[in-house]
Amino acid sequence: MEQDYLEEGEEVNDAQLKEIVANVVMKMNGIAPSSNHHLGIFEDMNEAIAAAKVAQKKLRQMPLETRDQIIDKIREKIMANKEILARMAVEETGMGKVGHKILKHELVAKKTPGTECIKIDAWSGDQGLTLVERGPYGVIGAITPSTNPSETVFCNGIGMIAAGNTVVFNPHPGATKTANFAVNLINEAAKEVGEFENLAVSIRKPTLESGDILFKHPDIDLLVATGGPGIVKVILQSGKKGMAAGAGNPPVLVDETANIRKAAEDIVNGASFDNNLPCIAEKEVIVVDEVADELIYYMLSENDCYMLRGEEINRLANTVLIEKNGKYMLNRDFVGRDASVILKAIGIDAPEQTKCIIFEGCKENLLIKEELMMPILGIVRVKDVDEGIETAVLLEGGNRHSAHMHSSNVNNLTKYGKALDTAIFVKNAPSYAGIGFGGEGFTTFTIASKTGEGLTNALSFTRARRCVMSNALYIR
Ligand code: NAD
Repeated sequence: MEQDYLEEGEEVNDAQLKEIVANVVMKMNGIAPSSNHHLGIFEDMNEAIAAAKVAQKKLRQMPLETRDQIIDKIREKIMANKEILARMAVEETGMGKVGHKILKHELVAKKTPGTECIKIDAWSGDQGLTLVERGPYGVIGAITPSTNPSETVFCNGIGMIAAGNTVVFNPHPGATKTANFAVNLINEAAKEVGEFENLAVSIRKPTLESGDILFKHPDIDLLVATGGPGIVKVILQSGKKGMAAGAGNPPVLVDETANIRKAAEDIVNGASFDNNLPCIAEKEVIVVDEVADELIYYMLSENDCYMLRGEEINRLANTVLIEKNGKYMLNRDFVGRDASVILKAIGIDAPEQTKCIIFEGCKENLLIKEELMMPILGIVRVKDVDEGIETAVLLEGGNRHSAHMHSSNVNNLTKYGKALDTAIFVKNAPSYAGIGFGGEGFTTFTIASKTGEGLTNALSFTRARRCVMSNALYIR
């Protein structure tokens, strides 16, 4: 229901009335209303897939220049709607920070590569000319997380369309409004360029069942999943080609040769960005004993951290983790929430601007071993860099996703990089430098750590095709 008013005498049921009120409130807050009639949004997954298939055939006939124009228009749409999207995501999911989400949208608009990153290989010689051209997979099925709902839709959308694919999203059920608003903007962009429709599609109420249709549908040529361990497992078992961008638990190691004051600032900035939701964010600190006190001093005195001690740490664990049948899981009420909100829940009043909760613990501590996605940093002291590397390998948990280090010793940095062997390794900067925010290189919101593609872009969403011309077309 798109309307935010009632005609005189018009009858609506409770659910419709609730939606009208919600739309009015969102409009008053400057947020785009929900709509059943957003472009590219279907009621049924099979219909969505069929529409994306028709659209892909049309996309294949389109000149590359038109794809570029659509992508430029998508970038404009993201920039024009970045604040609405940021507020919408925080409102819908209850997670993250509006200001940081605006920055994430700027990043995705400016630094997600388009067709320019699709390079070809060529061999030319006596026997002719051989090219390796990169063509599309066809229709891609994409699963998106609640932590970066619209950023992932835009990032996947730009890369997949640049490569000549269309994409069917099954967004996280807890972030559907935001993800589908992003799908709508992609289609608006395509429509404004040339009456193209359904280059990206989604469904109004995604469920596990609609996901299952997507995973098994014969017209889906590639699956790309961005999310936690559950979805990674599903993708790897799907029987289709899949790219799985899974969870991480990125450690950051600080050795005695680091610029400690800068390390404290960088670590807190990285770990508190969007309240620690990014999968690449520093999730625990390992520090060589000799400089540990200095690091904690700067975290507290210059970087708005709050230090927990003794019994307070147990209270934190009992609040943010839930035990079920001997297994621990996250209390979702605290994922992506402000540090001051989490502290309040354990009876501590801290200033609202508190960026990060810190505490000292051992490597076995669950708050350190688990990926929390909360502005909480456990600090593990080690005697030297070698023990630090060993600890980091253990805590990274074999995800081979991201790991970071502060050091001015190149041998230590090299040893760490080799031992962790992660898709992203940031040295002497906040973790977000690894996705091109304050660091060189393109950005992505889908880091295919499990299946090895690493930071995905348009090239990742292409197939290689060798085209051979015998005894002609060479001019040497
Ligand atoms: P989540 O795993 O709860 O959900 C991700 C997506 O998978 C959602 O669309 C969800 O509906 C779907 N899903 C989950 N289990 C499923 C199942 N069994 N069958 C079908 N669909 C299923 O993740 P979240 O909380 O939204 O996002 C946070 C997680 O994603 C963290 O673990 C984070 O590290 C990870 N993440 C990874 C990357 C990356 O690029 N590697 C990027 C962002 C987030």
